[in-house]
Amino acid sequence: MSRIAYVNGRYVPHRAAQVHVEDRGYQFADGVYEVCEVRGGRLVDERRHMDRLTRSLSELRIAMPMPRNALGVVLRETVARNRVRDGIVYLQVSRGVARRDHAFPAAATRPSIVVTARNHDIDKLEQGAADGIAVISVPDNRWERVDIKSVGLLPNVLAKQAAREAGAKEAWFVDAKGFVTEGSSTNAWIVTRDGAVVTRPADFGILRGITRTVVLEIIAEQGLKLEERPFTMDEAYAAREAFITSATQFVTPVVRIDGKPVGNGAPGLTATALRRDFHRYAEVG
Ligand code: PLP
Repeated sequence: MSRIAYVNGRYVPHRAAQVHVEDRGYQFADGVYEVCEVRGGRLVDERRHMDRLTRSLSELRIAMPMPRNALGVVLRETVARNRVRDGIVYLQVSRGVARRDHAFPAAATRPSIVVTARNHDIDKLEQGAADGIAVISVPDNRWERVDIKSVGLLPNVLAKQAAREAGAKEAWFVDAKGFVTEGSSTNAWIVTRDGAVVTRPADFGILRGITRTVVLEIIAEQGLKLEERPFTMDEAYAAREAFITSATQFVTPVVRIDGKPVGNGAPGLTATALRRDFHRYAEVG
């Protein structure tokens, strides 16, 4: 089956889907994106993803390209046309096409919008969760507004590649004070020896992950001990468990950090339970 992409009002074959060379997303990374999980053909946590998209756009003063309801229809149509059952739908909005000039183009410039969808490689994801993944640490050299889900991801790309080259799946960014911020495409968590689940507050230092928000709800509801505070790499090395969260990887246990085993080197009980429970708490629509 051939894939279909939605590009500025049209559904087109994926292989022929194009944006203009002067699209500001391409020229300046002047755009934002969202990735929403699809499960059983339905969108997971759509409301929260649309809220975050609205916020990212408003922080950058880019107009919403279409009303929210209409966007919901496009997301579902793209999922359906690509026969996605369990996968993701990707949405990108840029400030539009204009003659290359750093400052904002004329107010009438229409934002560009692209939507794609694809199935997960479920076997690979499940194997990653069953085995646990390795992470490495890298200096956080990103801009300060990582709370905006911007398409400017070059430091994240380089960090992920460094992880790959080190035989790891994810890289954790460490800020100038020695605290872990987040992963290159995931939020970072540890469980201390006395059972507290620790993750950095969603200030301006991290992206407020939707999966993170749902996991915080599970933790509150199940009465687990939570410490929403920054943690250091030394704390991570000494942790009983570690895990990552994202819409594409849900909750995935971390079993090695910088080559050192976490806890007993096997996926932890807390992470495994949170992964199992996640979809009972997420909103499916
Ligand atoms: N942090 C970063 C830098 C990300 O890119 C992502 C997801 O892409 C996340 C965290 C996790 O966010 P979510 O749970 O909304 O997928």
